[in-house]
Amino acid sequence: MENEIRAIISHMKEWVKVYQDMGFDPPPVQARKATGRKEAGGIGSRQKRGARGAEMLEALQEFIGDCKRCKLHLGRKNLVFGEGNPRAGLVFVGEGPGRDEDIVGKPFVGEAGKLLTRIIVNGMGLQRENVYICNIVKCRPPRNRDPEKDEVETCLPFLEQQIRIIGPEVICTLGRVAAQTLLGDDFRITRGRGTWRSYNGIPLMPTFHPAYLLRNPAAKRAVWEDVQEIMRRLGMEVKTNA
Ligand code: URA
Repeated sequence: MENEIRAIISHMKEWVKVYQDMGFDPPPVQARKATGRKEAGGIGSRQKRGARGAEMLEALQEFIGDCKRCKLHLGRKNLVFGEGNPRAGLVFVGEGPGRDEDIVGKPFVGEAGKLLTRIIVNGMGLQRENVYICNIVKCRPPRNRDPEKDEVETCLPFLEQQIRIIGPEVICTLGRVAAQTLLGDDFRITRGRGTWRSYNGIPLMPTFHPAYLLRNPAAKRAVWEDVQEIMRRLGMEVKTNA
């Protein structure tokens, strides 16, 4: 118990340090309520934050630097920070870079990434550059294994920061690992996908990982339904064939 408390305190200290080093106020103790988004991230403040978003994301990337905070740095070629519009209304969160992403240093550029791009462009009618795409961990786990608890704990504050800077209207998690990290280990992807959740007051839609769709094309229909839900939430027109 004592060890657990010590671990929590040290994690919180690290987190506060991340904020302070970047010149931000310490993180809020309480999560925002879903209904509080207008005040906390309404149009006015979104635009102001958007104007500084790119700068702040750059500062965060610089702060992360040539990260050696966890053992994943040992096998990586490139750290994959994430990319997209710093004012994106929609943020996709995957699990962690794979082989191609590790080589290129950008998220979702391999086969699964190409499918994600098709979902964004052909399915949603958006430009890939106009959403934001990132991962739970920023370095490739060896042989694409799931990221381990200590690796996730070390990297999560950076994702938290990215989300805080961007202030999206919707987060879409891709696959089990991303959903469980942001929603809790009890989350079950097959049962829970397609239902709105909330992460720090931001509506979150969990859906299947595109790599899973490559192995199970029949699941594409479910993802398309989830994507339509997101489009409705973003106020976009959804064209159905019915
Ligand atoms: N899978 C992920 O979860 N993220 C990537 O960036 C690529 C593949």
